[in-house]
Amino acid sequence: MNVGIVGGGQLARMLALAGYPLGLRFQVLDPAADACAGQIAPLIQGNYDDEALLRQLAEWAEVVTFDFENVPAAAARALERQTVTFNPPAGALAAAQDRLYEKALFWELGIPTPPFATVDSLEELHAAAMRIHLPAVLKTRRLGYDGKGQRVLRASEDIEPAWQALGGVPLLLEGFVPFQREVSVLAARGRDGATVFYPLVENHHRDGILRLSRAPLAAPKLEGEGWDHARRLLERLNYVGLLAIEFFVRDDRLIANEMAPRVHNSGHWTIEGAATSQFENHLRAILGLPLGSTAALGHSIMLNCIGAMPERATVLAVPGAHYHAYGKAPLPGRKVGHLTLRAEHPDALRTGLDRLLPLVGLEAGEFG
Ligand code: AMP
Repeated sequence: MNVGIVGGGQLARMLALAGYPLGLRFQVLDPAADACAGQIAPLIQGNYDDEALLRQLAEWAEVVTFDFENVPAAAARALERQTVTFNPPAGALAAAQDRLYEKALFWELGIPTPPFATVDSLEELHAAAMRIHLPAVLKTRRLGYDGKGQRVLRASEDIEPAWQALGGVPLLLEGFVPFQREVSVLAARGRDGATVFYPLVENHHRDGILRLSRAPLAAPKLEGEGWDHARRLLERLNYVGLLAIEFFVRDDRLIANEMAPRVHNSGHWTIEGAATSQFENHLRAILGLPLGSTAALGHSIMLNCIGAMPERATVLAVPGAHYHAYGKAPLPGRKVGHLTLRAEHPDALRTGLDRLLPLVGLEAGEFG
């Protein structure tokens, strides 16, 4: 079977790597000639909203999916008009592309969020800051990722500079959550409505970028709450594929931050750390195949490699460590790969983690 992927980054690459053993073939569409999935699958080079190229992809593929959520709505609609199956559904993409729609959807389903208000002028920002109270976070409604397009407002002096930095596009002000931790829920729903949930993942960010994920987080109450929220979203969106939802944990309750209608960075540990990886389960879901077990195989930590890859041999000398280079040129701030560390017992991870942390620009002893 042929699978087309809109977007040719590392997520498309890892989808293809998971799909080859299933006998699948892939083509990816990406504007960048050096898109890293192009190293392992034929690349159609062009814009995501180029209707002729989308048609070409759809004619070749039985199923089309995507590897990032900013696929233009027009492209998603054009694909849904083709005879090809396009999943996750365009409605889920639309909800995830705009922080206002996303939060409104969460509210409608009874999923708690921080307080929020739309902001389209400096006056509205002042009014929203009065209502929501500072500290608060000003975010662009669309096209934000990895903490880009956001400013924390701690005091009223921060309002004007934040407006100068971000104003001019639709914005959302949301209350700052003094969270105890950040977690994510990954779930996959098949074409027949069958649904599987991965163990709860704990995430650590630096400057808005995910640096470390750890799973499974032994927190059954939170996990149950997260799975309930995910189930309601999957059903409401008539979702097919893998969905990730990021939450803040405050006072032992989940507060939703955002969702991603695709495979997710906080699920990379599942390649070695779960019976079926998020990539394989996404493919199984969109192809109408039975979903695989999400059981954790011991305890896993995933570390993102930002800017450059560490030396391969040094990483592989650490027992239980695995190395994933995405084939991307080194560039400051760019995710170029990840490492995973897996062990039977969580305590056994500490020694290996302290050896890996300095290799990815973090300090040994961090993330106790
Ligand atoms: P986002 O792009 O919305 O996922 O934000 C990136 C990171 O910024 C989050 O993972 C949090 O660490 C932090 N952050 C975003 N929104 C808030 C908020 N309302 N309160 C506290 N921290 C936040």
